[in-house]
Parts: sequence; structure tokens; C-alpha cells
Amino acid sequence: APTEETFTYQAEVDRLMDIIVNSLYSNREVFLRELVSNASDALDKARFLSVTDPSVMAGREELEIRISADKDKGTLTIEDSGIGMSREQLLSNLGTIARSGTRKFMEAMAAKGDSNLIGQFGVGFYSAFLVADRVRVQSKNPEDPKQWLWEAAAGSHQYTIKEDTVSDLVRGTRITLFLKEDAAELADPVRITRLIKQYSQFIAFPIKVYSPKKEPRKVVDTEATKRKQEAADKKAAEKSEPSNPVDPVLKTEYDEVWDWRLENENKPIWTRSPKDVSETAYNDFFKATFGEFLDPLAHVHFNVEGTIEFSAILYLPGMAPFEQQNMMQRSKSIKLYVKRVFISDEFDEDLMPRYLSFVKGVVDSSDLPLNVSREILQESRIVRVIRKQLVRRSIEMMEELASKETGEDYKTFWEAFGRNIKYGVVEDTENREKLSKLLRFSSSKSEDNLTSLDEYVSRMKPTQKSIYYMAADSVQAARAAPFVEAMVAKGIEVLYLTEPIDEACVTNLAKYGDKDVQYDLVDVSKEGVTLDEEGDEEKAAAEAAAKELQPVVEFLKKSLGERVEKVTVSNRLLDSPCALVTSKFGWSANMERIMRSQAM
Ligand code: ADP
Ligand code: MG
Repeated sequence: APTEETFTYQAEVDRLMDIIVNSLYSNREVFLRELVSNASDALDKARFLSVTDPSVMAGREELEIRISADKDKGTLTIEDSGIGMSREQLLSNLGTIARSGTRKFMEAMAAKGDSNLIGQFGVGFYSAFLVADRVRVQSKNPEDPKQWLWEAAAGSHQYTIKEDTVSDLVRGTRITLFLKEDAAELADPVRITRLIKQYSQFIAFPIKVYSPKKEPRKVVDTEATKRKQEAADKKAAEKSEPSNPVDPVLKTEYDEVWDWRLENENKPIWTRSPKDVSETAYNDFFKATFGEFLDPLAHVHFNVEGTIEFSAILYLPGMAPFEQQNMMQRSKSIKLYVKRVFISDEFDEDLMPRYLSFVKGVVDSSDLPLNVSREILQESRIVRVIRKQLVRRSIEMMEELASKETGEDYKTFWEAFGRNIKYGVVEDTENREKLSKLLRFSSSKSEDNLTSLDEYVSRMKPTQKSIYYMAADSVQAARAAPFVEAMVAKGIEVLYLTEPIDEACVTNLAKYGDKDVQYDLVDVSKEGVTLDEEGDEEKAAAEAAAKELQPVVEFLKKSLGERVEKVTVSNRLLDSPCALVTSKFGWSANMERIMRSQAM
């Protein structure tokens, strides 16, 4: 017999399993969704590899998932003809939590310490232990000559691996769940079929469940035939005619026929017509595909036709990712398909600018080659067209969300991704104007509810020609700034820019408006800011004051020396006796603060 080796899980796996078993008990059915989604991933990989290496498919052409239940043995078996796992892969994949979904969950747990969070994540393979007290994994990867058998009991810190004597898979993975006593009812094709329809509708491979079906069969009803014959005989005798045999009477009987039956549509949702796809289906697809828990805030589904054809579904997620958002990080947000074959989710940077990395979606093009590489993508005109469309549709989707009657969804969106839009204003000159309409800031007239620039403009005084802003590290600091007080006293609204990126955003924007009127965005803390609606009288008063205060100015300049560039009399202050301002062309104090904090 092959030697069996015993291994101990990584400590985090133990912890994860405890959490799963303790917090997901009432939602145990998720195990099936998780195992089916793993099977689907493995099938994707096999299909992708076979594009360049057809031998991957040798001996087992069908790409599918098969599920069967054995009531007597109390087992449930999920088998896929995907890429399978070599011995090393079994060790690293089913003994650690180096994987995306669960890693996310563990990080969120560390951050928030709330095990209820678990419902928000794909908890992965280990969810099998929710319903099984023993799990067996048999797997065959084309690169490993041997088939392997992994096995573990629920609650154990260890698992075993040995060569599989059965060795019948050719390629793929078979997972056998030895069901817990209180989960025995799952060994039922009807239950399984219902769960598949509920959770795994979007799996792009056939899911076949071994199940019984009553099939009609015509049989001779001997009793009825006999009666008919007797009646016919009798009639014939009455007429003294010879009797002929009657046609047999048939009846329908039902046989229980067990067979592999297809239970999902396996037609990718993006290939359907949008009018045939329900809101719930879009949301479910989003959650299933991206391991998200919340419904998305918005989606757009479109087909582009013409010289370049592709279809796509894009989503605005309902919440920001838990990981500290790093714009340089690959986000795996866009899944690229070519003719329905999953190619990669690592090309998303080529398909979307960084600032839109939070937009999730699928893109399916029939114009790209199946063995498309990053090099091909980067050179490709097709990709440039696709990218442009994705950006346009993403922005439209956000515009639509912003225009919704109730502002709640946009507020949620802005809290999660507003910073990205500000980066967009800085980076994406082509779409800057559109993006600027999406901006929201707090202001002296709207401290709690953020205001759009359009709303600001609608509140402007008739003579006002600029949009004023004050950058500081908090609303309180902005409100208390000496420059702001005179403005506010005169009823002029001042935007409070409190995020580091804000200033770069508005200085890049520089102007805001439409074709007819453009307003300058003006930093109130800079030198030379004039209030546009000053009358002649005010000007005269200011000049008089300047004259009168000349000695003070000279005294201050002398005392402060090199530390200031110059000292002037200003009419921009109300209660404060003096204020430090930065020169028109220099960095603002806020910017200096940011630069200093970044240098350190
Ligand atoms: P995730 O799917 O988020 O990576 P899982 O816990 O669901 O995490 O799965 C862990 C890993 O085990 C997968 O990443 C994959 O490498 C491997 N795996 C699980 N199921 C299968 C399968 N049916 N075929 C091939 N590999 C699998
Ligand atoms: Mg998984």
C-alpha cells in the first residue's frame, strides 16, 4: 500500500476552521457554492491552458462538474474535470490560507474582530467541514504523473496525503464529503439540485447532478385487454361470427431512471440580452463572481458592435475593499474572456485606468486571440477601444447613480470611492470635466452634507466669479482659518478641502463650469485673493486703511525679516488681527504640510 504522510495545518487554518464552524452553522449550505466555485476555477484553468497546450485535455475532453449523493453511505461527491492538483499543490492549497477569499476574510477579522463578517466572504474549501466530519480529496493534475488522495477529519489539526490507488480521474478533482449525522439530509439529489439552482446559476460549465426522474413507459394493460377481448368475443358469438384478437390496451407506467442531469444554464450572463436578465440575477452574478457580500450599487451591461465587438458588465461595488487601498496594487477587478473562455483577471490595469480599479466587471471579446498575452494586449488597438468604452460606461454609471432621487447610494459610493474620482480628475485629462461633476466637498454652507460644484455654483452670489476653497486637515481647521471668516461673513461660500488629494484635484481642475461660464477655483489662503463684489466705497476704505497702517507694516517687516516675503494690509480678515498667507505661485500651507508628511 502507498505510504501515507501526515501533515499539520498552518495555525491560521485551525483558527479559520473554528470560526467557520462556529459562525456559519445556520448557513451551512454555502459549502456547495464554495466547492462548485472552486471546481469552476479549476475548469477555467484547464480550458485556458489547453489553448496553448491541447494535450492538457487528452483522455478527458468534457469540462464539467458532476455531483452525486449516496444516501446509504451518507456521502456527497463533487467531481470536476478541471486542472486538478499535484501533490505539492494539495499541500500548499489545502493546508494554508494563502488564498484570496479567505485571506481577505482573515484580514477583515483582524481589523474588525467580528466573526459575523464571515458571511461577507467566500470562505472557501474549508467550508466543507460545515457538513462533513471527514473530507476526501482525490486529484490529478496533468503535470503530476500520479493521482493523490488528501483526507482530513473535522476538528483535527492534521491531514494526510498518499498516492491514490484508484487513480481513475485522468484529470481533475473529486471531493467526497462524509456527511455529519445532522447533515445527512443533504445526500439527496433534490436538495442538491435546489441549491445549485439557487447559488450556482452562473457557473459557466455544465453542472450535472445524478438524480432520478420518473420516465413514462407504455405497457400492455393485460387486464383491460382481456376485458376487451371478452367483450369482442361475446359480440362475435351473438352475431355467430368468428372472433378476432383485439388490439392490446396500453397503459403508462413510470420508471425511476437515474442519470446525470444538467441543472444550470451555463450560458454566461453577459451573453444574454439585458432585458432577459433580472436585477437579482445581475446582483447574484456580481456576488458569486467577485466574492462580494453586498449587492452592487449599480451595474451596466452593454454590447458593442461594429468593427470591434465585445460585451461587458460593469459594477459599482457596495463597499470599499477591506485591504488598505493601494492604487498600485493589482485589483483583479476586470475578468477578461475571449469567446467565453476565461483568460485572466490580471490584465485589469490594461483595461482600466488605475483610478477606476474599484469598478468590477467582465469583458468578453471575440476579436482578441485566445492565447492573448500582456504584450499583445498593450499593443492592441482593440484593447484601446475597449478601455475607452469601459471608462466611458463607468463614468456614465456613476453619473446615473449621482442623479438618483435619493442621494443615499451616491453617498455610500462617494465615501468608498470618492478619493479615486479625485485621482481621476488629476490623471485623466480627457475625462476631467465629466469627473469634476462627480466631485463632492464639504463647505461653509454645507458642512455635513457634501456639496457638488454645481450646487455650489447655484448658490453663488450674482457677482461672484470664482469658486473659493480652503484646504486644511479638517473641517474645523478650515472653518477657523482667518481667511475664511471674512468670506463667510459676506455670505460667500467656501469649500473645505480636507483630504490630501483635494488640493491637487482642484488645482488640476483650475476651472469649473460649462461652455458659457467658467469659474476659477481660488484658494482663499493665497495672496492677492480679491472678493469679486467689492464696491468702490470698500476699495477706497481699503486704500485709506493701508495708508494709515503703513508704519505697522514697516515695523512688522523689519521684525520678521527673512522669515516672510512681504507684509501687506488686507481686507480679508474680520476677527483675526493678522494671517499668514502663501504667495500666489507657491505651495499652499496645506500642501507644504502634506509634502512634509510624505517626506518623512
Ligand atoms: P480560493 O478559491 O479563494 O482560492 P479555497 O479555499 O476555496 O480558496 O480554495 C483553495 C485553493 O485550493 C484554491 O485556490 C485552489 O488552488 C485549490 N482548489 C480547491 N478546490 C480545487 C479544485 N476542485 N480543483 C483544483 N484546485 C482546487
Ligand atoms: Mg474558492
